[in-house]
Amino acid sequence: MALVVQKYGGASLATPEKMLHVADRIIKMKKKGNDMVVVVSAPGDTTDDLVSFAEKLSENPPEREMDMLLSTGEQQSIALMSMALNHKGCPAISFTGQQVGIITDKSHTQARIKAIEGIGKIKKALKDGKVVVVAGFQGITEEENITTLGRGGSDLTAVALAHALKADVAEFLKDVPGVLTTNPSVCPDASKIDFLSYDEMLELASSGAQVLYNRSVEFAKNYDVVLHVRGTFTETNGTIIKKEDSKMEKIVVSGITYSKNEAKVTLKSVPDRPGVASKIFSTLADAGVNVDIIIQNVSEKGTTDVSFTTIRKDIKKTIKVVEDIVKKTGAAGYSVDEKVGKVSAVGVGMRTHTGIASKMFGALADAKVNINMISTSEIKISCVVAEDDTEKAVKALHAAFGLGKKSGSKK
Ligand code: ASP
Ligand code: MG
Repeated sequence: MALVVQKYGGASLATPEKMLHVADRIIKMKKKGNDMVVVVSAPGDTTDDLVSFAEKLSENPPEREMDMLLSTGEQQSIALMSMALNHKGCPAISFTGQQVGIITDKSHTQARIKAIEGIGKIKKALKDGKVVVVAGFQGITEEENITTLGRGGSDLTAVALAHALKADVAEFLKDVPGVLTTNPSVCPDASKIDFLSYDEMLELASSGAQVLYNRSVEFAKNYDVVLHVRGTFTETNGTIIKKEDSKMEKIVVSGITYSKNEAKVTLKSVPDRPGVASKIFSTLADAGVNVDIIIQNVSEKGTTDVSFTTIRKDIKKTIKVVEDIVKKTGAAGYSVDEKVGKVSAVGVGMRTHTGIASKMFGALADAKVNINMISTSEIKISCVVAEDDTEKAVKALHAAFGLGKKSGSKK
């Protein structure tokens, strides 16, 4: 018998039929002898709909009131889910974040969990044989203001509850069977990854894979909470995310991600002397521009070109700052390329294997994809390419590292 925290996202709760299916799924787990704590998101697009309603009233609604509003989505889900379970003969009880004492700081819309004070209440309900259904994404401050944990924050509720309850596992039920080696709409042979380390999951997420809320993975890493991402509509095991072990290192590359939400800016003929890079990037940071990859060219005749990538939707703001930097540094000018994409290969095995970069560049060369910029971390290599080459690059890398279903290297 285990204590299992399960989290269901809005897509799995969008219709009464889906909720009843989820109820069956929970009951099945409970009948196997598990104690079940279920964290739910708002049904379907409820949160988005509430956001757009608010935005029609006011351009800049008070954050306290946004939290008050958005937390209602999850409150609908807990009541409905509990009704569905009771209807099927399974005793269940719903609790809001406040009712289980999820105490947060005061950062409305991005609050951090400080403590969970209502664990006793949850344990008592479990002891009474009930399924406990808790609203994700919400908490309460010491001053009793309702807060939310950031979009996607129900994942964080689930991990924090799993930690506080000393649960055996936190399961995340999704409309995909687990974390996949890449986006299946680009590579139809994308396969399910069996195991990932926390760091791999964080790198996959930061480079384009949308699976779990990043802060929930960080929390799980800090407290060693085992995560299991699996399908709502399939029974098979999904992807286990846990502390790195030697088995994981054998797989060099676990997944290929990509993003098309960046733009590249080049500052031309920047004077090449100490302090200039510092001036450029501190000016950008002060203006709140998020910089991803940076390269500086060889210096010739005392000047150099400096390129960086940033978030495409912020490009207007970035250009304003860059114009200022050109004046300040005496650079000759700047250029912007909004049509860039980024492909990344992620795997803990990179720490212990050599030749991964050359294999990656070779595969891109064979696919006739030109590399614009490169950046590496211990477990990730990213290349900036032309936007139109992105899918081609993903396909080439997915095949080169043997990640497809048919290659047999996974599973
Ligand atoms: N309902 C919230 C959102 O859509 C929280 C969540 O889904 O985790 O962001
Ligand atoms: Mg949602």
